Parts: sequence; structure tokens; C-alpha cells
Amino acid sequence: MNSNPIRSKENFLIFGAPAIEDTEIQEVVATMKTGWLGTGPKVMRFENEFKAYKGAPYAVAVNSCTAALHLSILAAGLKPGDEVITTPMTFCATVNAIVHAGATPVLADVDPVTMNIDPEKVEAKITSKTKAILPVHFAGRPCDMDALCDIASRHNLKLIEDCAHAIETEYKGRKAGTFGDFGCFSFYVTKNITTGEGGMILTRSQEDASRLKTLALHGMSKDAWKRFGDDGYKHYQVVEVGFKYNMMDLQAAIGIHQMERVAPYWHRREEIWQRYNEAFANLPVTLPAAPEPDTIHGYHLYTMLIDEAKTGISRDTFLNAMNHENIGLGVHYMSIPEHPFYQEKFGWQPEDYPNATSIGRQTVSLPLSAKLTDADVEDVIAAVKKCLVMGKAKNPVLAAAG
Ligand SMILES: *Cc1c(COP(=O)(O)O)cnc(C)c1O
Repeated sequence: MNSNPIRSKENFLIFGAPAIEDTEIQEVVATMKTGWLGTGPKVMRFENEFKAYKGAPYAVAVNSCTAALHLSILAAGLKPGDEVITTPMTFCATVNAIVHAGATPVLADVDPVTMNIDPEKVEAKITSKTKAILPVHFAGRPCDMDALCDIASRHNLKLIEDCAHAIETEYKGRKAGTFGDFGCFSFYVTKNITTGEGGMILTRSQEDASRLKTLALHGMSKDAWKRFGDDGYKHYQVVEVGFKYNMMDLQAAIGIHQMERVAPYWHRREEIWQRYNEAFANLPVTLPAAPEPDTIHGYHLYTMLIDEAKTGISRDTFLNAMNHENIGLGVHYMSIPEHPFYQEKFGWQPEDYPNATSIGRQTVSLPLSAKLTDADVEDVIAAVKKCLVMGKAKNPVLAAAG
């Protein structure tokens, strides 16, 4: 392997590094000084700003998207034995949330081009036990919501959107997370905006919002959220067995300022995306499909498929070679049926989900954070070209590209 890496070790480009600016640092410090660290006025402000941005009637902040998904499935009224259809091309949390809620996950394979759940495959998996569909807007690309909403309404299913990649995403003028009964968002460090750890649930009914709040805080009645206020002691009542999923003001302090940068960060990621497209146009790799007409892509992940037969090197060799160049990549994702737990518990096998399996074995995600400088982006491009040249001897297309 070439001994002179594109970047030095000290300058390793970390995949998914968040852009954090001075205003949120100051807000966190100010929050510390008020002494109000837990759930309070800043969480309420963050919820209000998020729902205003989305044009949604209700927003409930929680401490992760995993928690958001778990509570949404419970609030949807699912019972043990009920089936939830989701995608094999997702993070394990999507499936785990279904399991934690006591329901049974069922996978429907993805479309090989969009990498999103294929509505026809969903339809084929519907049984008398199916109670919900849980699509993921993969990489920020909206799912085929016309088809999914139609299936949900014809079969009387709940629709829960995993919007962990999809804050900015729109489909035919409507924002991701507002199609379904519940829309779940993540503010994990690597996501489009961050609160360190954090999540948000959008919902359409006051009843659902209030149930979510109760479930997120020990099952205590809604007024418990206000019990530390200055208008006298209030006894709380536990009305069901809940969880400890509330967001802290310390997290919301970061979120309210990250909110202001949803648009500029998205623009920056779009710019990087276009630059990658242009730089890699002639390489023997599969680049992300162009966004569908009348949609807005959230540009959360820039995924490239490395097919060894085409490039001359395997995906894993490429990952290691990029690491040697001191550039961190991601893999989103090895498909869900590749993991032993799900194979043992549900009998899932990779070959039953050929599109997700093939994507999962070939995909790499390049750095796509708003934090990247132009020089960082050029380093990524130079490293990708250099690493792919390793396959050159075996590959006439690369040899010709020089
Ligand atoms: C990150 C992610 C989650 C989980 O989000 P957390 O906030 O880390 O719990 C769920 N689904 C998808 C698709 C994700 O990428």
C-alpha cells in the first residue's frame, strides 16, 4: 500500500463529525448557570420550533430516535403478536424498537435504486396480523409515500415514519414525518442536526401527544412535567408503566441553535454531494440515484456501491484503504438479516432480501457533514481515486481513466 497517505494521522477525517458553533456552546453554559438542566423551558422551545419548521400540530422531545420509535409503536396501540412491516436496509434500532414494544417485525425488501422499502414488497407481506408500516427515508430520500399511504389506508394500518435521516426531506410538497400517525427524528451526533443524543416525535392528535409525554416520563400524568415549577407543590399520579425517555434542557440548548442552521447545513451537504457526483462520474462505482422529481432529498448520506467485479477491489478492501489514507467512512448498513440475533429469533436469511443484502455488502458512505471544508472534500475525492486505482490492474475502465 502507498506509504504517503492523503491526510496525516493527526488530521484523520472523522466520519459524521458534527458542526458545533459558538452560540450553542454559550447556550449550554448559560443553561448550566441557571441550574435548570433537566426537562424545562428550553425543551418546550425546541419542540415549538421543530413543529413550526415541520408545520406539524404536536411535537414531543425525547432522548433518542430509538425512544421515539419505541413510544410511537406503543402509542399506536400495538399489542404482542401484531406485525409491523419495515425495511431490512436500516439501523438496528428501527427493528429493536418494534421488538421492545412487544410487536413482531416483518421485513419487506428495498428497491435496488432508491434503497427505500418497496411498496409492492410491503403489500406482499401483509397478513391479518399486520397493524403498522414503519418506513425509513433512507439517506434522506423520501419513500414512495403515495403508495405507502394508500396501502396503510386500504388495510387500516398505522404509519410510523423513521425520519432519522430526513429532517429536510419532502415528498410532493409535504414534509417527512407528517404523513404518518407518528414521525420520529434523531439528533444523534452524526445526524443532520444534533443535540448529542436526542429525538423528536411528530404526531397529529393531542391524545397521542399526551400519551407520548406520559410514556416518556415514568407513566406519570402530564402535569408531572410541571411539578417542579414555582406555583406550589403538585402531587403526581402514575397512570401506566412508562419509561425514562425525556429530553434535558442541556440537550435542547444545543438543539435550538442547531435548528437555525437546518437550511445552511443542508445547502452545504448538497454542494458536497454535487461535487462528489461530478468527481466520481467516470469511476466504475454506482453513485446515489438522482432525487426523484417533486421531492427534496435530505442529503444525509452519500452512499457509493463498490462491486468487486466492476472495480477490481472489494468493499472491505476499499474501506481499509481509505482508512489508511486517514479518512473515516461509514457503512449504512449491513442489511438487518446479516445479524445473528435476527437470524436466530426470526429465521431471517440474507438471501430472502436480495436487494438489501447486495447493497449492504457493497455500500460505503463518504463523509458528508456540513463541517467539512473544501479542502477536506478534495482530500476525500483524491483518496477515493487513489484507493480505486488499486483495482486498476484488474480493471480496464480504471486503467483508461488513469
Ligand atoms: C440513527 C438512527 C436511529 C436511532 O437514532 P438514535 O437517536 O441514535 O436513537 C434510528 N433509525 C435510523 C434509520 C437511524 O439512522
